[in-house]
Amino acid sequence: MRAMVLHAPHQPLSMEERPDPEPGPGKIVIRVEACAVCRTDLHVVDGELPHPRLPIVPGHEIVGTVERVAVDVPDWRLGERVGLPWLGHTCGHCNYCRLDRENLCDAPIFTGYTRDGGFATHVVAEAAFCLRLDVPQDAVHAAPLLCAGLIGWRSLRMADANTARLGLYGFGAAAHLMVQVARLEGREVCAFTRPGDLAGQAFARSLGAGDTERALSFGVAGLYLAVIIGSAVLLVGWPLAPQLVGWFGAGPAETAFGVTFLRWSLVGMPAMLAVLATTGVLRGLQDTRTPLLVAVAGAVVNVGLNLLLVNVFRLGVAGSAIGTMIAQTGMAAALLAVVVRAARRYGTPLAPHPGNIRGAGRTGVPLFLRTLTLRTAIIVTTVVATRQGVVALAANQVVMSIWNFLALGLDALAIAAQALTGKALGAGDEPAARALTRSNIRCTP
Ligand SMILES: [Zn+2]
Ligand SMILES: [Zn+2]
Repeated sequence: MRAMVLHAPHQPLSMEERPDPEPGPGKIVIRVEACAVCRTDLHVVDGELPHPRLPIVPGHEIVGTVERVAVDVPDWRLGERVGLPWLGHTCGHCNYCRLDRENLCDAPIFTGYTRDGGFATHVVAEAAFCLRLDVPQDAVHAAPLLCAGLIGWRSLRMADANTARLGLYGFGAAAHLMVQVARLEGREVCAFTRPGDLAGQAFARSLGAGDTERALSFGVAGLYLAVIIGSAVLLVGWPLAPQLVGWFGAGPAETAFGVTFLRWSLVGMPAMLAVLATTGVLRGLQDTRTPLLVAVAGAVVNVGLNLLLVNVFRLGVAGSAIGTMIAQTGMAAALLAVVVRAARRYGTPLAPHPGNIRGAGRTGVPLFLRTLTLRTAIIVTTVVATRQGVVALAANQVVMSIWNFLALGLDALAIAAQALTGKALGAGDEPAARALTRSNIRCTP
């Protein structure tokens, strides 16, 4: 085996070849997959902890697999996933041990401090102090749970389960793990750091101590923006409808249909934009299922309403537009309810915030320009088709519907890719974001 060994404080660790270890009575040999670095390891190396057993192999956040087992250890199987923490042995008969507070034992042995630890290919451990890790998590992510995770978890469990608001003093390894658990449990977290510890503060904020909340507050701002733009388009478009339709140069009958259809569609505009905005918010929360269900339900309702309004109530073109408008309003209401619930859960204020709405408007400019150019191109095509007569216009409409359908199929893939990449970028996981982009480019037809 190989090990990184500390011979004296303040010295760099040196790599050494050692004979492969044998498990003594009650012990197992662990093949180390990952061993995280703890602040305590640095204290050992810097000579800030008294009497380390030197030479020592530091490291006590160990994840590995069982490679050898002593004959008197029946309950561990070879190849099993195992975790080894700081506490490697207790005496079993001091007052603390007898009171189930063995973490305070008078004669303990600590992994990586008074017994060789995990900065090695192999480590020997007492089976009774090993933890079975039967979660399919990768070793690198699991390792910090063996110390920072244990400490944080213990503190979190000792806090009253009904405590809605937690204070974390200092924001190191334990806090950054526990803030994620606490947020998942729906608790509000306040992190206290040293004055000037800007990196720690930024880290605390980014880790769910408010990031989802912040993301949601931008989503809420986007929603207000959608409704504002939709209402503005409605107010400006309604009186201008005859003129706008007139530019297409169709006959008087088609123009009249067009004006009716456009006006009813404009009434549905705020709801339609709200559907787009809420869908975006939910995608940001990695929820693509709710928008899908709502979209399918909305489409079914839309078809039913159109049949009813056009064929039964004989409302003609207006019936078709009214059906779509009602369906879209229903979809907006359903999605809005989901977003409001999420906002309540994360404590995001629902009142309009002018700064955030302006911010949403600014970040939306490139997307707006993209959509504007696309729509202009489509409208120009429609104008050309209209000038060639009703049959050409109808044919254009059929082709456009098929094209739209196919484009939406591609869009679905793009959205999934965007959501995954966005999540990786938000987590500051640059390698994952790059890997996702690479595989997305490969998958693009
Ligand atoms: Zn530690
Ligand atoms: Zn003891």
